[in-house]
Amino acid sequence: MKERVVLALDLGGTNVRVVAVTESGEILARRHSQTGKGSASEIYDLIAELAERCGADAGIKEFDAFGAAIPTTDLDESGVLGSLPNISQLEGTNISREIGRRTGLPVRAVNDASAATLGEFWLGASKGTQNAVGITLGTGVGGGLIVDGRLYTGTRGGAGEIGHIRLVPGGIKCGCGGSGCLEQYCSATAILRRGKQAGLAAESAREVFDLAQAQNEAAGAIFSEMGSYLGLGLSIVNNLLSPDIIVIGGGVAAGWAQFFEPTRESLYENSLPDRRSRVKIMRALLGDDAGVLGAAKYTFQHLN
Ligand SMILES: [Zn+2]
Repeated sequence: MKERVVLALDLGGTNVRVVAVTESGEILARRHSQTGKGSASEIYDLIAELAERCGADAGIKEFDAFGAAIPTTDLDESGVLGSLPNISQLEGTNISREIGRRTGLPVRAVNDASAATLGEFWLGASKGTQNAVGITLGTGVGGGLIVDGRLYTGTRGGAGEIGHIRLVPGGIKCGCGGSGCLEQYCSATAILRRGKQAGLAAESAREVFDLAQAQNEAAGAIFSEMGSYLGLGLSIVNNLLSPDIIVIGGGVAAGWAQFFEPTRESLYENSLPDRRSRVKIMRALLGDDAGVLGAAKYTFQHLN
């Protein structure tokens, strides 16, 4: 029997990526573009165009389905998108209908950080485990949960919001309306904010990291603090779910050399004794492909 192939999308506020993926995880074609600030229908047209080009590149006329990793934590079963802070023009639109109409394919949507977690579980850092937690440290912080070998999506696809665990009662105000959320202490945005407060000549989290690597003490302290908060947040997840592994991905994971040790220490200190040494922490392996691969896997799992 011929291997099944799906198209998979990872839609972000900055970039949109579409790939053609086989059931064994081989990427046959890939296309990407800037998301831009267009209307909802312009964005859906762009996605359809990238999909068509992927089909042409892969020499495939008919795909089995379309999987979509979307930055929302509120997904209706039928495909209606809830709050999308980074691409708000798509709020309230029906992604299954819009992409389905343009491609003729059944569409399955999943939260982007959940997709990345599933991608790593399928082909990356957590492959071969049963219970895995993924955390994506970027401009914001997302998360995903693999429970008993399956992606746990929760009601309306909203599971895994590790970024909004309240670490500091009455702490820094968060975009979610709360305050003291992990995202406000561990994201790229948070690292840059702390860098500016410390008077560092840095315009990005990456530059704060470079200063830390060059032995700048204030920059090093920012990553120690960030790692301590991250470990504390992960200990809550570790105590709740007792995973085999925690996989850390996203752009901020590039700062691993500065934050890993304080993260590990704080995770150890704040976890229950029976699991503090047992849980593994690993850096994600799939980079930008994690989301599309996870969206593809999720779609294959739901094909009959
Ligand atoms: Zn929050």
